[in-house]
Amino acid sequence: MHYAFSDDQEAFRRELAAFAGRHLAPHYRSDDRAGRMRPTLPKEMAAVGLTGMRVPERFGGQEADAVTTGMAAEEISRADVNACYVLLVAALNADILVHSAREDQLARWLPPIADGSALSALLLTEPEHGSDAANLSLRAVPEGDGWRLAGEKTSISMGMLADTGVVFARTGGEGARGISAFYVHLNDERVARTALDDHGGRAVGRASLHFDGLPVGRDDLIGEEGAGFVSVMQGFDYSRAVIGLMCVGVAQAALDDALEYARTREAFGGPIGRNQGVAFPLVEQATRLAGARHICYEALWRKDQGLEHSVAANMAKWFAPKTAGEAVHQALLTFGHAGWGSDSPQGQRLRDVMAFEIADGTAQVAKLVVARHLLGRSFAP
Ligand SMILES: Cc1cc2nc3c(=O)[nH]c(=O)nc-3n(C[C@H](O)[C@H](O)[C@H](O)COP(=O)(O)OP(=O)(O)OC[C@H]3O[C@@H](n4cnc5c(N)ncnc54)[C@H](O)[C@@H]3O)c2cc1C
Repeated sequence: MHYAFSDDQEAFRRELAAFAGRHLAPHYRSDDRAGRMRPTLPKEMAAVGLTGMRVPERFGGQEADAVTTGMAAEEISRADVNACYVLLVAALNADILVHSAREDQLARWLPPIADGSALSALLLTEPEHGSDAANLSLRAVPEGDGWRLAGEKTSISMGMLADTGVVFARTGGEGARGISAFYVHLNDERVARTALDDHGGRAVGRASLHFDGLPVGRDDLIGEEGAGFVSVMQGFDYSRAVIGLMCVGVAQAALDDALEYARTREAFGGPIGRNQGVAFPLVEQATRLAGARHICYEALWRKDQGLEHSVAANMAKWFAPKTAGEAVHQALLTFGHAGWGSDSPQGQRLRDVMAFEIADGTAQVAKLVVARHLLGRSFAP
């Protein structure tokens, strides 16, 4: 068993740590307070390859493996987990497109994702259908050789800013096989956007997008008609392990701060870290976080080896956000009164990381996937 990052991966990690320290960390809290993503961010991230992690080199990307993508996500999230949404959605959409789109479509769609000129979103959730996404109701109404999109998507990350998006719409009858996926330009008067006001991830923002007859053609269809859910979405739950590592990155930053504080803050004549009541909870959180990190990287490694990775990815999806949230909570408490004010980043970290207990599927949905594997298909829907 070889259990280490390669020299190249370690060098990339150091490069990213320097980039994140210079370009991301200084904005983590101010972007949250402003409640908006800096318009220059996608281009800044593109300059170090972060928008093209999963884009093939022939289209201007990094063509990185899943482990390296996760490592980048962890490193970036230590400084600014909200900036990492840009990496995450670009990687996920690139994978979806590479898996199912034609070469001429890739040549149109991927270079703008890789160079940061098109910010893309993933539009699956609707007001009435979240976990039960296979029942979505946004219609693609046939017209001529194409369709018109009519209906609403909601809870879409970067929904106010995205230029393009993978949109899932119903072209056929009920159920998963009636759903098709389209790659759509969103800057159109027939797409009305409304911002949502959130507890965390405020710099990323979520939005509802109402489609009022936006025309889409056969050239915008990703893969086969009716294959949107069954084929296009298949095999992409590895992103759940990338999300897990985003949470691990935030929690590691919180724990590092708390450990430093425990070394230097004095009470009763000595540093508070000498009290096991302070040290042991941090040890316990660091241990759980190590476990979360391992399951995330195992999922990504399995993906890279072409092995079944869905079970590990879904274990990561429920375990990592919850574990990270608990670690940040403990880190905040270690600071006493100094952790509670908005001049400390711990409160924002807690809000930001909690979003991932819902985003990209809740813990219950992830556990359903694992239960299918542990108990058998007939025990979980
Ligand atoms: C920060 C954030 C970012 C997001 N970004 C995006 C995005 O970019 N694109 C996008 O398409 N969506 C996005 N979402 C939406 C997200 O994917 C959905 O919120 C999620 O899938 C859950 O759907 P729902 O909110 O409709 O909850 P529901 O499906 O209504 O579920 C409500 C509750 O019931 C539970 N539940 C439902 N069914 C079962 C069951 N069978 N067994 C046990 N429990 C169950 C759920 O776990 C949940 O706790 C985002 C959400 C958040 C919070």
